Amino acid sequence: MKQKNGIQARLAQLPQIDRLLQLPVLKTLLEKYPRALVLELIRDDLERVREKILAEPGFEFQLENFVMQLTTEISAKLQPGLRRTINGAGIILHTNMGRAPLSPAAQQALAEMAENYCNLELDLVSGKRSQRHLAVEALLCRLTGAEAGLVVNNNAAATLLVLNTLASNRSCVISRGELITIGGSFRLPEVMRHGGAKMVEVGTTNQTLLADYEEALDETTALLMKVHTSNYKVIGFTAAASLTELVALGRRRGIPVYHDVGSGALTDLSRYGLPKEPVIRESLEIGADVVSFSGDKLIGGPQSGIIVGKKIYLDQMKKNHLTRALRSGKLTYAALEATLRLFLDEANLGQTHAVMQLLTKSIPEIEAQIQRVMRALPDFPGQLELIDGVSEAGGGSLATETLPTKLLTITLAPQSPDEVAQQLRENSPPIISRIQNNRVCLDFRTIREDEEPFILVALRQIASKFAT
Ligand SMILES: *Cc1c(COP(=O)(O)O)cnc(C)c1O
Repeated sequence: MKQKNGIQARLAQLPQIDRLLQLPVLKTLLEKYPRALVLELIRDDLERVREKILAEPGFEFQLENFVMQLTTEISAKLQPGLRRTINGAGIILHTNMGRAPLSPAAQQALAEMAENYCNLELDLVSGKRSQRHLAVEALLCRLTGAEAGLVVNNNAAATLLVLNTLASNRSCVISRGELITIGGSFRLPEVMRHGGAKMVEVGTTNQTLLADYEEALDETTALLMKVHTSNYKVIGFTAAASLTELVALGRRRGIPVYHDVGSGALTDLSRYGLPKEPVIRESLEIGADVVSFSGDKLIGGPQSGIIVGKKIYLDQMKKNHLTRALRSGKLTYAALEATLRLFLDEANLGQTHAVMQLLTKSIPEIEAQIQRVMRALPDFPGQLELIDGVSEAGGGSLATETLPTKLLTITLAPQSPDEVAQQLRENSPPIISRIQNNRVCLDFRTIREDEEPFILVALRQIASKFAT
């Protein structure tokens, strides 16, 4: 196959599909993925090589390279799109990584409800149809002191439902300093518009006084809204009317007050040495008529939006037809109820609740994990170092606050930090790191002990690939 390599002769080197399928690597793939899909990808790849042979006279087909590329491509294309990741970024509620990891109790409830039928809308005493929110509502009332509660798809949906129910075709007064954007697509003015409420902005970015609200009230005003600015902080020359003041104003004028607390805490986090987040019970005690928050931020449950407050307003929301479109399924209810039940035993929350566990994980614990990893990699060809760092709560919780942590830094010259980070992401399971001061860092606050073996395997593999 030297000089007289006619195109025909070179095309003849291409393997038959049957022969390829005998190769052990491809046999393994056939066990994992549907035969038809694997065959389709092999044919596509062979066709591409055929075209290349026709187009490039100098192109030499090499079976080994071809098979390697093919298997990488098949695995990449046919593996599930949604994959578990290891969070080495140190952001506990990372929206891009699905926010809260669920607690064991919620995982169990999920597995049981996934496999079986359940009484989602069935009253077991009467055998009649019931409402899906009842069990969770009772828990929410107990945990927050509210009269009533409701669960929807997420807090954006909760906001939409509150505005649509209480202020559609009328107006809602809100401070200019609280017109938040969350994660790019939740922009409060848009939610107002979709909810059919006319937004009346008062005050300025850094200063909104009670008098500003008062002046804006007219006969169309249906709602006063206060939003916890969960992902930013305005500092300097600032003033904001307090919830207490807004409630007093609302009472005087007969207008309900809605508090969107964003993340929301069921328990005062300062008790755990953490920065304080608005406690839902406190907002209700101050007199907010309706409070909404996310189920998958500090609550640590599945994606959901929770609304609690006065029965008279919640009843209206339950009757709103939008509620049907925004409702959650049995898996959400299962995981949310199990998560909320953990708060009934607050003394053990640090052990039973996955997010609380990460928030309260101690520095010695984190340090011990990193040391274990470093000890297991004595011949690492680059540098591994244990340094101080900070973790974030994330997900628009504890906005500007950070938690001290320990980081493992990974340097593997001549590879750039970006290259190392990419290798980690391409690992199976993907490992998400953070680049800081031009170094790849893994924050072990968000890496569990049982995930350490994955880190070791990945680092060994990357090192072997890059070793010079
Ligand atoms: C996060 C957040 C939302 C959006 O909640 P999702 O559950 O992500 O829909 C709305 N308002 C505030 C103040 C938030 O922090």
